[in-house]
Amino acid sequence: MNEYKVTVIPGDGIGVDITREAIKVLEKVGEKYNTKFNFTTLKAGGCALDEFGVPLPQETLEECKKSDAVFLGAVGGPKWDVLPGNKRPEKALMGLRGGLGLYANLRPAKVYNILKSASPLKEAIIDKGIDLLVVRELTGGIYFGERGRGAEEDVNYAYDTEKYNVNEIKRIAHVAFKAAMKRKKKVTSVDKANILESSRLWRETVVEVAKEYPEVELNHLYVDNTAMQLVRDPSQFDVILTSNIFGDILSDEASMITGSIGMLPSASLRNDSFGMYEPIHGSAPDIAGKDLANPLAQILSAAMMLEYSFNMSEAARDIENAVEKVLEKGYRTGDIYTEGTTKVGTKKMGELVLEEL
Ligand code: NAD
Repeated sequence: MNEYKVTVIPGDGIGVDITREAIKVLEKVGEKYNTKFNFTTLKAGGCALDEFGVPLPQETLEECKKSDAVFLGAVGGPKWDVLPGNKRPEKALMGLRGGLGLYANLRPAKVYNILKSASPLKEAIIDKGIDLLVVRELTGGIYFGERGRGAEEDVNYAYDTEKYNVNEIKRIAHVAFKAAMKRKKKVTSVDKANILESSRLWRETVVEVAKEYPEVELNHLYVDNTAMQLVRDPSQFDVILTSNIFGDILSDEASMITGSIGMLPSASLRNDSFGMYEPIHGSAPDIAGKDLANPLAQILSAAMMLEYSFNMSEAARDIENAVEKVLEKGYRTGDIYTEGTTKVGTKKMGELVLEEL
C-alpha cells in the first residue's frame, strides 16, 4: 500500500464546507487504488489570526514542508478586512507560496458540454470546445522585482521591475511542456517580446527548452493578442505558458470564459511532485456554513493532487468522470443551477460524486 502525508488547510468561509467533501472523495479513491492518505488538518488565514494572531502559524508552514502535498480551501472574509496588510488572511497564501517554493501555478479552464450555457461567450465559440491550461510563473517577475519611489524635479515617481533569469524561465517552461505531453501537445508561450527585453529572453529560452520536447508544437503570442484570442477562439489553446503578471491576468480571463468559478481547480508546484492544490475561488463568506457552496472545484483540485503529486492519473480521471456524470444527471449547486436541473447542497453534491466513484 502507498501512503502519502497531506496537510489540509480548510481556511475560512466555505473552505471548511468544501474540503470536508473533497477529503471523503480522496478516501474513497484511496481504497480503490490501495493508497492511504494521512491527513493533518491545520489552520491558516483568518481563523489562524483569531487563534494565534498571525495568518500563517510557523507550525502550519513546517507541517506543510514535511508533507507530500498541501490541500487548501480558501482564506479571508470581511471580519479581517479591516486589519493592516501584514495581518490579512491573504498573507497566508503568499507565505505558503514563498515558504514552500511554489514557482509554477497551473490553472485549467474547461467548459463542460453540459454547462456551456454558463459561459458568457457565444454558443458558436463554445461549441468548438474550451479545455486549456494556464501555466503561470509564480515567484519571479515584476511582483518580486526591485521597486521604489522617488522624486525628480519635485515630481513623485514610482517603479517596479520585471526581471527573469534563464533558469527561472527554463524551469517553468519544462512544467508547461511536460503538462502538454499529457494533453494535446501544444504550448503557446505568451510574452511582449516586441517591447520588453525580459520577454525577448523569455522567448529565446522557451525556444531552447522546446528542443527537448520535439513532439510538442510551440507557438508564441503577444499578451495583448492572447487576451483577444481567449474570447475570440479559446479552442485554439492547449497549454498557455506565461510570466507572473501576464499569467495573473490571463488565468482570470480564462476562468471567466468558463462562467463557473465554483468548478475550477488549481495547482501550485515546486517540482515534479510537491504541490499545493486549491480551488480558484475565494472563501465566499456570503454562503459559508449554509450548505450552499459548490464543492466541485475543491474535488477537482483533489484530482489534480493525485495527478501531479502522487502520479495517480487513473484515479484523477475517475474523479473527473464522476463529476461529469453527476452533472450529466442534472444535479447542480446554486451557482451553476439552471431551470430544469435539480438543485442540491454542498453535502449532497459530495455524496453524488462518491456514488459515481
Ligand atoms: P469569492 O470567490 O469568495 O466569491 C465571489 C462570488 O462567487 C460570491 O458570490 C460567492 O458566493 C461565489 N462563489 C465562490 N465560490 C463559490 C462556490 N464554490 N460555490 C458557490 N458560489 C461560489 O471572491 P470574493 O467575494 O471576492 O472574496 C471573498 C473572500 O475570499 C475575500 O476575503 C478574499 O480576499 C478571499 N479570497 C481568497 C482566495 C484564496 O483563498 N485563494 C481567492 C480569492 C479571494
